[in-house]
Amino acid sequence: MRLLIMGPPGAGKGTQAKFIADHFSIPAISTGDIFRANVSQGTPLGVEAQRYMDAGEYVPDEVTNRMVRDRIDEPDAEPGFLLDGYPRTLAQVEELDGMIRYTGHRLDAVVVLTVDQEAIVQRLLQRAETEGRADDTEDVIRRRQEVYADQTAPLIDVYRERGLLIEVDGLGEVFEVTQRIFTALDVVPES
Ligand code: ADP
Repeated sequence: MRLLIMGPPGAGKGTQAKFIADHFSIPAISTGDIFRANVSQGTPLGVEAQRYMDAGEYVPDEVTNRMVRDRIDEPDAEPGFLLDGYPRTLAQVEELDGMIRYTGHRLDAVVVLTVDQEAIVQRLLQRAETEGRADDTEDVIRRRQEVYADQTAPLIDVYRERGLLIEVDGLGEVFEVTQRIFTALDVVPES
């Protein structure tokens, strides 16, 4: 199973990614989490990524692509994976196509969480208080939304044209959203 989960910043991708990945026994791979782990460990990758992340900008494609390629080459991703936060640019889409083609597999579905922008700003400001993420200030949140609208939202059409898109309403309780995703993916949730 090779899946993507997409949606604007704060749509709840990370939370839902874990449930979906557990269900299919595949790793949920979040580029944001990998970048943050590198930042907190002070690796060269983290040092490079941090200035972009703090400003709400995307880390350059070259850096991100290499990181994802290395990650999906790990043995645990051989049966499949769920990518959360990648691809985010058209160049990343092409790169991912190449990576998947190379292994002789294909993408199975792209889950898109749809949510209202304003509701999200509130959600992210709350997250700032509980998780203390450096990029959850109002200015940076707005910038991340702009960058998403500009660079990432167009990817939804690309995957729609390929017939891979599964659009799910991301508003509501966490379990309700999970339920909608499983229904759309046509799987029976585990109790
Ligand atoms: P969000 O809640 O904004 O979706 P993420 O945790 O997915 O946050 O990502 C945090 C930051 O990490 C992004 O704003 C960006 O700087 C960087 N990042 C994550 N994934 C990518 C990617 N695919 N391409 C470029 N930058 C990325």
